[in-house]
Amino acid sequence: MFNLVLFGPPGSGKGTQSENIVKKYQLQHISTGDLLRDEVSRQTTLGTEAKKYMDQGMLVPDEVVIGMISVKIDEAQDARGFIFDGFPRTRTQAEALDKLLEFKNTKIDLVLALEVPEKDLIERLVKRGITSGRSDDNEEVITARIKEYYLKTEPVAQYYSHQEKLERVEGHRPIEDTFNVLGKHINKYLLPIA
Ligand code: ADP
Repeated sequence: MFNLVLFGPPGSGKGTQSENIVKKYQLQHISTGDLLRDEVSRQTTLGTEAKKYMDQGMLVPDEVVIGMISVKIDEAQDARGFIFDGFPRTRTQAEALDKLLEFKNTKIDLVLALEVPEKDLIERLVKRGITSGRSDDNEEVITARIKEYYLKTEPVAQYYSHQEKLERVEGHRPIEDTFNVLGKHINKYLLPIA
């Protein structure tokens, strides 16, 4: 198995690049943002609880997200590997993920961190908000999300850097160029499907 974390602030292009990576390497995509939005739209208990945080640009409590991820990892029986997108977002989540994978006799192999200047992030997210219909893509909530990122999520980079798994990648170049750089890193571990 090959397990990848795609790391980076809101708007850094994790969703777009995940799609590309999934196509090329056939990894099982796990996006906590997508999973949470699905819970919200189905109006589950978890979704109703999560929405309160999401609408304010705050992180959903660790135990909620970790429980949800645990179920998803168990569901995917013979995956070639996972790509985690938007998770882990706190040190507690990173430690929980290590434990969950250890239980499955596997581990995180590589963490690719997309880096984009803050002014570009805000611009991208505001633009996306016009078409996405996402309730958290307005300027006030975007600012809160970015603040939450630097406060709680950025330290996770340190966690993986200590494990010597972190590679930083410039994320403000054209999508294709960034994808090529990400691919060069992944190819050291896993060959493309086609
Ligand atoms: P983005 O990275 O563009 O902000 P996501 O779609 O990844 O968006 O997440 C949207 C919202 O969902 C976050 O602002 C947060 O409230 C919640 N969320 C997603 N993933 C996590 C996570 N791993 N831990 C806590 N909250 C999360």
